[in-house]
Amino acid sequence: MLFSSASAADEKVAQTAISIVSLSPPRIRVEGQLAGETTNWKFLDEYAGILSLSDRVENLRVFTADNSVIPVRRLKPGEFASASPANRFSYEVNLNPPAASVNAAHISWLTAEYGALMLDDLLPQVVRQTCLQVTMPQGWKLHTSEPQSAGGCFDIRNTEKAIIWAGRETRAYQGRTRAINFTFITQGKWSFADEEVVSSISTILKEHENVTGATPFKHALVIVAPFPVPTDAHRWSAQTRGNTVLLLSGNMAARTAALSRLNLSLVHELFHLWVPNGLALSGNYDWFYEGFTTYQATRAATELDFLTFQEYLDAIARAYDRYRAQVQAANHSLLAASEQRWRDAGTLVYHRGMVVAFLYDLDIRLRTNGKRSLSDVYRELLRRHAHGQLSQDGNSSVVQVLHSFMENAPKAHRYLMSEGVIDLTTELSPYGLEVEKRGAATRIHVASALQGAQYKLLRKIGYNDQVNRRH
Ligand SMILES: [Zn+2]
Repeated sequence: MLFSSASAADEKVAQTAISIVSLSPPRIRVEGQLAGETTNWKFLDEYAGILSLSDRVENLRVFTADNSVIPVRRLKPGEFASASPANRFSYEVNLNPPAASVNAAHISWLTAEYGALMLDDLLPQVVRQTCLQVTMPQGWKLHTSEPQSAGGCFDIRNTEKAIIWAGRETRAYQGRTRAINFTFITQGKWSFADEEVVSSISTILKEHENVTGATPFKHALVIVAPFPVPTDAHRWSAQTRGNTVLLLSGNMAARTAALSRLNLSLVHELFHLWVPNGLALSGNYDWFYEGFTTYQATRAATELDFLTFQEYLDAIARAYDRYRAQVQAANHSLLAASEQRWRDAGTLVYHRGMVVAFLYDLDIRLRTNGKRSLSDVYRELLRRHAHGQLSQDGNSSVVQVLHSFMENAPKAHRYLMSEGVIDLTTELSPYGLEVEKRGAATRIHVASALQGAQYKLLRKIGYNDQVNRRH
């Protein structure tokens, strides 16, 4: 064992250590000592719909402070009981990348070149805070938002939020916006230059800062890396934990297309630093922090000229078609669907959420003569529920803020709170938008005759009649 009982006994937090057993196949050893004793040894078994995570934990052994081995038996997946209380442990974890590469943004894995260590699925669940030592092969570097203590360990305050990126030939860059310093970490070959990504991150963070009027984190770590196994060039998958954004991406051959694809995924994912990560809200309110975020990110992308106005309308039409294509679409309200995000209703949360967010945005803009928008809902939410405050229920808090922007319960609100198919043609006509079916695909376009208020609203969200006439 790595720790002498004399020094560790003084510590209030667990002492843990991760070292490499082999890179091929990827295996790590985890050893540690708890602050107290326990008989209950539990590991994360399911995350983001990925099952049987604890099957990767092998050869679990637990000990007393004086190194006596205590027998352990498995109670159920991920849960073990020791015959008597123990405080030291040792086990190995098989870190083969997940079979479905899209899952690699959500759980730990390692290749011979790089990998992600997410402490929530690596350490026993009883460990929430820890002084963690990580020993990698020579030439590897570690990158994390977690502070390093004088003793050389990472001072992990919350294992649920901690991600450590490990890699050979990792490249690091620093950037800043008005109030956020960020570190950009990348590896592998891309069709664009690293500096272009630094510039994109900076531009996007500034836009989100301006729109929300909030700075949830003074520092952010943004990791953009290839998937652990070669994947379709168009694919990306990401996760934001605390102030760390991990984005895994395929690489498209053409520079412009590749950068455009990356920018759109960054606009969405970086917004998660604000929502939900900048909010002291809990519970399943995914309809908002995923569905509405998908809409809000599309708005930001239009403001930043990553998307044209028509592409913005196309994105909403696509979301509408995807939501309508689902068999159970009409049977779930958004609040009910959020309960089962990682199961069958997952895409419903995103797609119906995005369409409903669009209806809210239009409603607020038209009623306030363009003075307010959905962005003001975000500003108010981040003002009332900035992280660091007492955590509140996400669903009721967001609905309350939305209510404060609404008059006489608009239709968008009905789609949020209850079941029912969204009739897009009827819903969009007050705003000068028409809906047309082309085969199976819906297309939204601006009506040929617009009233003054409609014209003003559409201009404000990116409609340019000069451009539209030319095409
Ligand atoms: Zn998201």
